Amino acid sequence: MTDRPELRSFCNPVGSLTFKGYGLQNNPFNDETTESPAVPAIGPLRPLLRPSLKFALAATLSVGAAFSWLNSHPPLKTTRLPAPINASADPAATPAPSLLQRAIAVTVRPNDTLDGIFRRLKLSVDDLAVVRNLPGIRQSLDFLHPGDVINLNLLNGSLASLERRVNDRQTLTVARSPQGNFAAHIVENTLDIRPSPLHGEIVSSLFRSVNDAGATDAVAAQLAEIFRYDIDFAQELQGGDQFTVVLEKVYRDGKFVHDGDILAAEFINNGKTYRAVRYTTPDGHSDYYTPEGKSLRKAFLRAPVEFSHISSGFGLRWHPILNHMRAHKGIDYAAPTGTPIRAAGDGSVKFRGIQSGYGNVIILNHSGDVQTLYGHMSGFGAGMAVGRHVHQGELIGYVGQTGMATGPHLHYEYRVHGEHRNPAGIKALPTEPIAASQRASFDKRSAALLAQLDNARQATHLAAR
Ligand SMILES: [Zn+2]
Repeated sequence: MTDRPELRSFCNPVGSLTFKGYGLQNNPFNDETTESPAVPAIGPLRPLLRPSLKFALAATLSVGAAFSWLNSHPPLKTTRLPAPINASADPAATPAPSLLQRAIAVTVRPNDTLDGIFRRLKLSVDDLAVVRNLPGIRQSLDFLHPGDVINLNLLNGSLASLERRVNDRQTLTVARSPQGNFAAHIVENTLDIRPSPLHGEIVSSLFRSVNDAGATDAVAAQLAEIFRYDIDFAQELQGGDQFTVVLEKVYRDGKFVHDGDILAAEFINNGKTYRAVRYTTPDGHSDYYTPEGKSLRKAFLRAPVEFSHISSGFGLRWHPILNHMRAHKGIDYAAPTGTPIRAAGDGSVKFRGIQSGYGNVIILNHSGDVQTLYGHMSGFGAGMAVGRHVHQGELIGYVGQTGMATGPHLHYEYRVHGEHRNPAGIKALPTEPIAASQRASFDKRSAALLAQLDNARQATHLAAR
């Protein structure tokens, strides 16, 4: 949960006072431009370094004084402005302002450019050029999406400040100092992140069930990702499986923005319970662990045979039987005939049989379009048949020298999208458990998340009754 002071867009501080749809059909600019009427600066002019506040002030204080500005801008209609605050509605009673502030909210139209908007509003393109040359903001400034809102604050018809939300997380503000220099800042938007419970039962698909429980596909994908080393979501999902999640939901200005990260999750697959908690190390790396602090990630086995040594590496080599140089597309592990060969990772049998050269060979399909191949086997593991699901470490066959082999060894290949990769070069996924130095911090975090998980399950069960 974050609870920082909010950066507010300029309409918010005045609550129900909004300028959208205020009968601006005759707006000289266009009907996508909403505008708060003019305001004479009251009291000493404060530096325009806080545009949000200024916009708020403009909106709050301008209501009555609006009419003086309206006189000089007749096309703008004045339909149903909120009751004047502390100001006279009689234009004659309002002294001519020496400084005139206006706040304009421009909604970006298709194919709009900032240049076009400035010209439309009769603002100085020279000012725009200066602003665009401020360091580091060009992209945040120029990247316009239809529907984006740009808040402009004008002083005597010149740009005093500009504010726009760049994305969910950042807002760009540009303000002119009393000395006339522009300065730009990127401000982090304050997002309100609320942990929320999610609970559901698998009926047809994981995505459907997560949607039904009230979360997006992204959450379903996260859930499958977290447990992918334990559950084969393509083949092993069963009706009646259950999930419970503590999920970050992200709000801004009280409005839901998007689902965030899963903080804790439980999945009951075929009666077996798997649990995961998210933990971020002090260096900022986040990962999922079992409640006991083991990594949920399981790397491919480094070597699918124990008690072996690499007798031939990946790459070009002299082929002893074919008697010429050729690419060796795998790794050879020398081991006595009959040494067990293990599945390098969870997967399913794609091929089991004899192929010239490879002899007795098994090919496994893994997630991520990864295939592993095991050649020259003397025999296959019991029950190995095409389509069979195998778990990492499961015995799939025995070392031999069938096919083109000069001695007993396992020829092992690793392919990603059909391309051979060096199995030794596969970057091992981090499988380390929580470091001893992090243990106390992790245990505290884990206990808190598990309690939230239990509450989430109970709350949704109670609600279902
Ligand atoms: Zn080989």
